[in-house]
This record gives sequence, C-alpha cells and structure tokens, in this order.
Amino acid sequence: MSDDQLKPETRALRTGIHRSQFNEHSEALFLTSSFVFDSAAQAAARFSGEESGNIYSRFTNPTVTALEERLAAMEGAETCVATSTGMSAILACIMGLLSAGDHVVASQSLFGATVNLFNNILKKFNVQTTFVSATDLNAWKAAVQPNTKLFFLETPSNPLTEISDIAGLASIARKSGVWLAVDNCFCTPILQKPIELGADIVIHSATKYLDGQGRVLGGAVLGSRELMMDGGVYGFLRTAGPTLSAFNAWVILKGLETLKVRIDAHSRNALQMAQWLASHPKIERVFYPGLQSHPQHALAMRQQSTGGGIVSFEVKGGREAAWRVIDNTRLVSITANLGDVKTTLTHPATTTHGRISQEARDAAGITDGLLRIAVGLEAVEDIQADLARGLS
Ligand SMILES: *Cc1c(COP(=O)(O)O)cnc(C)c1O
Repeated sequence: MSDDQLKPETRALRTGIHRSQFNEHSEALFLTSSFVFDSAAQAAARFSGEESGNIYSRFTNPTVTALEERLAAMEGAETCVATSTGMSAILACIMGLLSAGDHVVASQSLFGATVNLFNNILKKFNVQTTFVSATDLNAWKAAVQPNTKLFFLETPSNPLTEISDIAGLASIARKSGVWLAVDNCFCTPILQKPIELGADIVIHSATKYLDGQGRVLGGAVLGSRELMMDGGVYGFLRTAGPTLSAFNAWVILKGLETLKVRIDAHSRNALQMAQWLASHPKIERVFYPGLQSHPQHALAMRQQSTGGGIVSFEVKGGREAAWRVIDNTRLVSITANLGDVKTTLTHPATTTHGRISQEARDAAGITDGLLRIAVGLEAVEDIQADLARGLS
C-alpha cells in the first residue's frame, strides 16, 4: 500500500516521525529556542538558506515540523504552517496572501472573532469584506469584485450548523480567480477534507478537536507549497512571530493520534443527543446536520459523513428558560470552548454573539432561547439527565 492510500487515522499515527539518536517510540519534545551550529561557516550557510536545518524556533522547530507534516498528510495538503492560535492562522493567511486594496467575500455565519478580525482590524489596512449567506451560492458569485482575492467560510457554521457547499463554492472561486479558504475546525480531516473538494486553503483552530482535551491553544494554515511558502503565509509567521510553541505542538501531535476515535464517539453521542432533544416537549427546534430534518442533511452526509459533535437547540420560553437549563446542570461545563472530551454548554445570544446587535442576532437566527452543546464523551444518558433537570 502506498503512502497516499493511507487513511487519515493511520497518517495520524505514522507520519511526521523523525526519531532522534535515542530511537524513542513516542515523538520527542524539543523545548529549545535555538539550535547550535558546528562552525561559523555552517551558521552562515543556514542563515543564507544554502543549507537546510533548524536555526531558531520562531522559524522552525522539529516538534512543530512533526505536527505540520502529520496534519498536512491528514488533510491531503502539500504544506502546513502551524500557528499559535486559530485566530493567528486566519491572520497569517490574510497577511501572507492579501494586500491593501484587496477584497474578501466571507460567510456571514463565522466565528465571532473572525468577524471582528475582518470588520475591525483588516478594514484599517484597507482589506474590505462583504458578508454573504453561507448557503446561497449565487450570493457569493454576485459579491465578487475585480479586486476580490479570497472566499472565506466555515462549515458547519456556529451555532446554527448551516452547511456550505464546498465543491460548489470552489467551482465559483476557480472561475472567478479567487482562493477558497475553509475553516475546518468543526469537522477536522476525519470528517471533511476541503482540499479534495476543491478548496485552496484549510484553516484550523487546533485548540478545539485536534488537541481535543481542552489543554492548549494552537492553529494551522494548509495549502499548496506555492501559497504557503511563496505566497508569504510562512514568511509572515517567521517574521511577525505568532508561531506555535514546541510544547503546544507536542500536545496537539499526541491529540491527533486519537482524533479518529474521538470524532467517531463525539458524532455518535451528538446524534443521540440531537434525537433526544428533537423529541423533547420543551424544545422548539434542533439544529444538527446529522438529523434528517436538517435542511441540508443530504449535502452534509455527502460532504462530512456524520453530523459532527455540535448540536444547537432552541428551548421554549426564551432566555429565562435557556438560562434555567444552564444553571441546573451539575455535570456539563458552562464554558464557550468546544471540541473537548468534556461536554460544554453555551448560551450564544449572551456570550459568543453577545456583542452584536439584537437586529443582527435576529437576522442570523440566534434567538434568546438558543443553546449550543458541544457533546463530549461522557455517557449520553448522563448528559441528558443533566439537561433534563433544567428543562423540566
Ligand atoms: C475557536 C475557533 C477559532 C479561533 O481559534 P483560537 O484557537 O481560539 O484562536 C476559529 N474558528 C472557529 C470555527 C473556532 O471555533
């Protein structure tokens, strides 16, 4: 079997391994800020690029490189550059590939900080963004301007789990001479491989499922060697500095080893939770791509094979009823993180989406009764009992 036929779960265990002279079985952690040269001539050759090799951990570090190789193999990408957080991955992508005067078309259903990055920060540097519906392909096509360089989306969206058609948007992007970037945080390469579907760039917040146990922050940008290296994504990181620490890279590297079994278990538990919630008399609506009632169920099953681990649901009785559910839990964690083995519960309207106007929330469908649960690996019955208390 050739390497390019290996499944992601095999790649998660068997790529990026470069044993040291000690022949360790588990990947080594290289906690060092710099690397030593044999001579002045070698130092000069490394700095000039004549000789490859490590110089300084802001540029490269063997543990970070191991993670980059592994994640690239899993996503089917030529090159991966690891970053300190998911947000710095998005920033590196923009700073590397775009210039002042360029334009972005982005999904209006993006992570809050991503919206703020496009709206408040990039605008200052004259990179303008038009936000369009995640699901309306014609709106993306219509928003393209002569200076449009990038389409940016997340699928499924947070918190309402809308599904963007990656292959459809990749085709529009290609015809328009625009790059398509997909934030693959919710699905991970176990469920969805945007590059195979035609995307140019994949973004990760490794903080979520890739680490998977709520320990460290990290991120990654993946794509062709040309975009990552010549396009300036790596150059931005190396110079500006939001690189991934070796320690965090090591934690995420070990997290990847169990990604497949975790994602399968998260998906199974989330589907059971979604079905239970859908039949509960105090629940108005459930948003989960794995349910047949989801408007894009067929596309979701084609594109990402399971519904993933995140379920949102609207409680009857608005904010008061939603908060009652949260405040009566004893097991699940009241926190905004997701992708953890421990179940987390959030009220988006007053937390992750609390800074946007009521009007904008209404337009986005984020009602006061909406709750988002990132289903963990506890027994589903125990999570259900924890929510049932507040629901009754
Ligand atoms: C959390 C998150 C990010 C940002 O990642 P950080 O590691 O917190 O910087 C970006 N996109 C999505 C979809 C996320 O959930």
